[in-house]
Amino acid sequence: MKTRVVTADALEEAGQIIRDGGLVAFPTETVYGLGADALNSEAAARIYHAKGRPSDNPLIVHIAEIEQTERIARNITKKARDIMEAFWPGPLTVILHKKEIVPDGTTGGLPTVAVRMPSHPVARELIRRSGRLIAAPSANLSGRPSPTTAAHVLEDMDGRIPMILDGGSVGIGIESTIVDMTGEIPVILRPGYITREMLEEVAGEVEIDPAVAGRTMQKDVVAKAPGMKYKHYAPKGQLVLVEGSAEKVIQKINEMAKEKVLQGYRVGVIATEETIDRYCTEIRKSIGSRKNPDSVAAGLYRVLRECDELSLDYIYSESFFEEGLGNAIMNRMLKAAGYHLITL
Ligand code: AMP
Ligand code: MG
Repeated sequence: MKTRVVTADALEEAGQIIRDGGLVAFPTETVYGLGADALNSEAAARIYHAKGRPSDNPLIVHIAEIEQTERIARNITKKARDIMEAFWPGPLTVILHKKEIVPDGTTGGLPTVAVRMPSHPVARELIRRSGRLIAAPSANLSGRPSPTTAAHVLEDMDGRIPMILDGGSVGIGIESTIVDMTGEIPVILRPGYITREMLEEVAGEVEIDPAVAGRTMQKDVVAKAPGMKYKHYAPKGQLVLVEGSAEKVIQKINEMAKEKVLQGYRVGVIATEETIDRYCTEIRKSIGSRKNPDSVAAGLYRVLRECDELSLDYIYSESFFEEGLGNAIMNRMLKAAGYHLITL
């Protein structure tokens, strides 16, 4: 199959592909998504096939209007409605009880459905023009870093899907916050740009699922968002995170990097603008500025993919504070590193 990279001019044609049960990759404000008709289980199955995604890892259903939630979800609580009204359109996914109409092929057999209304104009226009609700995970091969540009999508999906809508670089760069709204107290299943503090302002107490709160692989905690149990976002080389005071981190990373270089490995360092010049390796990637956490989120998957292009064997990275957006950034980095974290 030939994969075409097109602009928003091709939205009408993209809508037709979705109606015909095919796949279209498109930009959202978080990362690029790989979309198909959410209520057509054969179409949803094509997503799993193209990504190589395990079939029990459910998809998020994207809608263009808040009212479309009623078509696919039931028993929606007042708190859930408040949260949707406060943060939609935007980078928040809400887990609700599903209606019969949503096929098991979209929810991985779960009785619940994940729903999000994206704010990106191309995403919303694609949903509208297709006349369908669009199931879409991130448009990467399963396990690889999520795509933040159309070129990233092409790297992974060339020959696997007919069309990529190019909307330039995405704004946020990490996936949506997922909050389970099926119980009395909202539970965060995946941290993201919408933080716990932001949700609590609207909905009162909010919990964080134990499976995402941890800094180590938690084998005995059952993941409620099935995606949480898989290796994710990972570059091909071994990523190692180092945390502690800036000076100690710089010293330790330089030490480890030197040792691996002497052993003949290809080594890179991921650091922030503030400290990047302090590292001794030839390959250094700036993830963003510590003064601007948004820039770090936006740079994360780009630098991981750049490390892959350079075929690095070892990648040493600075860490981030786990508060606010830092929480989401560290969650993704820990997974990308397979929880290899050195605390000084
Ligand atoms: P992705 O779109 O690939 O970034 O991942 C979607 C995430 O949403 C995965 O981690 C899924 O496990 C999670 N998810 C989707 N539907 C549900 C659901 N019904 N309950 C819990 N988590 C879900
Ligand atoms: Mg994904």
